[in-house]
Amino acid sequence: MTTNSKTKMPVPGPSTKPGRNCPLCPRLKAFREDWRTRKPNWFNAPVPSFGPITARLLIVGLAPGLQGANRTGRPFTGDHAGILLYDTLAHYGLARGSYEARADDGLELVDARITNAVRCVPPENKPITIEIATCRTFLTATIAEMPNLAAIVTLGRISHESTVAALNQRRSAAPFSHGAAHDIGKLRIFVSYHCSRYNTNTGVLTPEMFRGVFGAARTYLDASS
Ligand code: URA
Repeated sequence: MTTNSKTKMPVPGPSTKPGRNCPLCPRLKAFREDWRTRKPNWFNAPVPSFGPITARLLIVGLAPGLQGANRTGRPFTGDHAGILLYDTLAHYGLARGSYEARADDGLELVDARITNAVRCVPPENKPITIEIATCRTFLTATIAEMPNLAAIVTLGRISHESTVAALNQRRSAAPFSHGAAHDIGKLRIFVSYHCSRYNTNTGVLTPEMFRGVFGAARTYLDASS
């Protein structure tokens, strides 16, 4: 921990968790507040990471979906993208229990954790550049707080590029390309197209392609244990 040069008091590192009323992105704050009024029973707040901090694998998504993670409060939960993601995680022993699209379904992640590049729901599922950069503070701190982290799966170009930036690398050092794997320091980054409804409905991403990425991550974790 660093210390304040005047008071010599310890200064905590950057928070891994935006507060429920995080004010950093005015557009996202306004959108969230609008939905709090419309749907007071929804979560409507920055969605926290899911899974043990001790995990060796981190999965980085884009941002909560309006009626999915933003409603339920758990990444990918209630979002169409969560169906393929949680099924794939279970297939590789990275999730245990049954996924029922509710935050209280009892599903547990095993040696895996899920976070989002942007913690608040963006209008039309599209965070803007400044929001991605601002929320990277939390992504950077999330990566830093995981003591056993060995691999990251990035879902989609935005989450990939934000992760690469969070690791202090230029984009060109680890270009986005489905199925690629890049080593950054001690971490291996596995790159996937996002498992969005659009990508799966159009065949840009098939379940087999998605399993290919997680299968590679599984093999890597098994080989490094
Ligand atoms: N839900 C999330 O939490 N993240 C995504 O990237 C998509 C849906």
